[in-house]
Amino acid sequence: MGPQEAAGAPKGLLIILSAPSGCGKTTIADRLLKRHREWVRSVSVTTRPARAGEKEAKDYYFVTPRKFQEMRSQRELLESAGVFNFFYGTPKSFVLEKLRAGKNIILAIDVQGARQIKKALDKNAAIVTFFILPPSVRVLRERLEGRNTESPAEIQRRIELAQEEIKEAGFYDHTVMNQNLEQTVLKIEEHIEKFLKERS
Ligand code: 5GP
Repeated sequence: MGPQEAAGAPKGLLIILSAPSGCGKTTIADRLLKRHREWVRSVSVTTRPARAGEKEAKDYYFVTPRKFQEMRSQRELLESAGVFNFFYGTPKSFVLEKLRAGKNIILAIDVQGARQIKKALDKNAAIVTFFILPPSVRVLRERLEGRNTESPAEIQRRIELAQEEIKEAGFYDHTVMNQNLEQTVLKIEEHIEKFLKERS
């Protein structure tokens, strides 16, 4: 038994993906999970209403603001944040269970959440953080418009927030520009492999 196990520290790797809305973070996470069937994704809780096509318990657990506050006060969330007038949070027990079972787990969350998790977890926990950058603001706008899920005012807000979020990229272990999906996924995998190799 290694010292980490002896101390009861989580054994799995926590992979945090953050990106401004519309940078392809969900697609990247889906692709990574398809290529690594043993990895798992943390499904967040949110007070945001479901978008067309989104499914309960797959995309998010959609809850009322009251339920969200209850979970937060019961300390059931590993981290939580307010984004675009809604609340988002990571269910704690699921993540900790998976990590203890040695599973690698992907969290697609914002920078506020990434910072809280780094603080909250055991200092021996294995964690690697990625910030995905859009190739340009123009491309980001095109992607958000092409998605057809937000109003023009909402798109403008997301672009402004993206510009703020990009300033936080320096906090992350790695920044990856999502110019090409395949290459972005490969790059992330490379960093993860390197991290795991160095740890073993
Ligand atoms: P969306 O509404 O577009 O699905 O997500 C909006 C933002 O909330 C994204 O930046 C996304 O990463 C972030 N987000 C989603 N789930 C969580 C969560 O559990 N915690 C935090 N802190 N941010 C989240």
